Amino acid sequence: MQNNQIIDLRSDTVTRPTPGMLEAMLNAKVGDDVFEDDPTVNELEKKAASMFGTEAAIFCASGTMTNQIAIKCHTRPGDEVICDKMAHIYAFEGGGIAFNSGASVKLIDGDRGRINAKQVRESIHPDNVHFPRTSLVAVENTMNKGGGCCYNFSSILEIAEVCKENKLAYHLDGARLFNALAVTNETPADYGKVFDSISICLSKGLGAPVGSLLLGTKAFVHQARRVRKVMGGGWRQAGFLAAAGVYALDNHVERLKEDHRRANAIYTILKSQSYVEDIMPQETNIVIFKLNDKISAANFLKKLEENNIRAATTGPTSIRFVMHLDITDGMVERMEETLKKITP
Ligand SMILES: *Cc1c(COP(=O)(O)O)cnc(C)c1O
Repeated sequence: MQNNQIIDLRSDTVTRPTPGMLEAMLNAKVGDDVFEDDPTVNELEKKAASMFGTEAAIFCASGTMTNQIAIKCHTRPGDEVICDKMAHIYAFEGGGIAFNSGASVKLIDGDRGRINAKQVRESIHPDNVHFPRTSLVAVENTMNKGGGCCYNFSSILEIAEVCKENKLAYHLDGARLFNALAVTNETPADYGKVFDSISICLSKGLGAPVGSLLLGTKAFVHQARRVRKVMGGGWRQAGFLAAAGVYALDNHVERLKEDHRRANAIYTILKSQSYVEDIMPQETNIVIFKLNDKISAANFLKKLEENNIRAATTGPTSIRFVMHLDITDGMVERMEETLKKITP
């Protein structure tokens, strides 16, 4: 491959639609989704709901939107949401929990972003006028800031028990749930049984240009549809985008394993480089590592840029690489060569 071709590892959101996906989009039958008569949007929502065994689903513009709609539906102003301190819903959604729902947050210091039932139980407030009313627990799988790590399903189930005992809603930020499902034994339906709501991104590893899905009961999705409208998220001939989502679910789930294999190849090279101080265990498509004090993350990025490689920092001394649909084995080889020749 040519050395001037850009290798973009900033995020798995940077993918371009494949020719097959573009053809599906071009041929989509569309209608007005605010009237709920876009056939392709309806097909995507039905397809997702049936995969997860939930009553209904709603197609939205982004994972931030699906998460925020879910939080709005599950809380009242002044309520409290329990999540990890690195959770996307808290750390990367612009303060949306406060902005959209007027809710407060109880942050847990989890294991690379994974919280457990004991921590959740200890975070629930008793019914006392001094305290916010705890109403929602949210978990993230895979955990983005935790280096794409996966939950043990038993841990997910234990938290579900605590939620049930305490009448709390349980939300899954499953932006990369399909990455987790590719390395664990569960099915989408296993997850559908446990949560009150699930958010899934189509625009990450699955390679659609735009879109996320929010799943739950009919009543929940009806409420979500109202909230989506208020947020300005009612869209019209969204079937062109939904067609990409249908195509992604049909064609891009199985191949996630390739992203994981490539992430592992890069992880293996990085582990033995002198400039790497520490590296998070690699489980899925994300590799996060910490540089030693001889080189800053900004300088490291500059060296990568000189080799036409783009990455993201996750702090002043840490770097993130994310594998996705547009990364080839040839690119991974070039990455390996470049990573070996960088000197602090
Ligand atoms: C990307 C992501 C989202 C949603 O992101 P959008 O860019 O709004 O689609 C939500 N949660 C996690 C964990 C993510 O990585």
